[in-house]
Amino acid sequence: MKTIESVCVYCGSSNGRNAIHFQAGLTLGRGLGEAGIRLVYGAGTRGIMGAVARGTMEAGGKVTGIIPRFLIRREANEVDLAELDELIVTDDMHQRKHAMFERADAFVALPGGIGTLEEIVEIMTWAQLARHEKPMVFANVGGFWNPLLTLIDHMKQEGFVHSDHRVRPIVVDHAEAIVPAILAAATEDRSSNGEDPAVIDRM
Ligand code: AMP
Repeated sequence: MKTIESVCVYCGSSNGRNAIHFQAGLTLGRGLGEAGIRLVYGAGTRGIMGAVARGTMEAGGKVTGIIPRFLIRREANEVDLAELDELIVTDDMHQRKHAMFERADAFVALPGGIGTLEEIVEIMTWAQLARHEKPMVFANVGGFWNPLLTLIDHMKQEGFVHSDHRVRPIVVDHAEAIVPAILAAATEDRSSNGEDPAVIDRM
């Protein structure tokens, strides 16, 4: 069993139209804080990203924000950033993504845009290539991720997902279910070949 000490959350840097998504961010953040699990995220202080961080801190949780220097003005403000208990400023997006990956024991995709999609899809590709076996959760709030989940099923049916058993994200339909789902997944023996189930190798 792998202990879950930190969870990386990918989500929109905007609020989106439907207020349930912002609320889901707050709820997930509180759930992490109450469980004593550190939030690792992209350090945005606006949108759903800001909601997750705020929820975590309100519940007394720890937050690591990781952001490339060029995005600080666009996605955050320095006053709010000062409240994070750890801030890592990277030179570029690649360093940011890798630092987020290495510091997290599990990954969650809340509703978001193209950046969110890119990040969670890359984590699934690394799972497919056996670079990690960390739990991956889609928070399918209001059915937000249904189109992507349908596409992934379609790819599987058409025989294009070559390591199907490795690409099995957990899908939950409300934010309260995310932390329990991650903790339950961590108690399963996900190691199929005796290698370290958390991180098999560096990318
Ligand atoms: P969005 O879902 O588009 O609002 O973006 C959510 C977060 O993903 C923001 O912090 C973006 O900076 C980040 N992001 C956007 N594009 C990428 C990318 N190619 N790789 C990693 N993160 C990205």
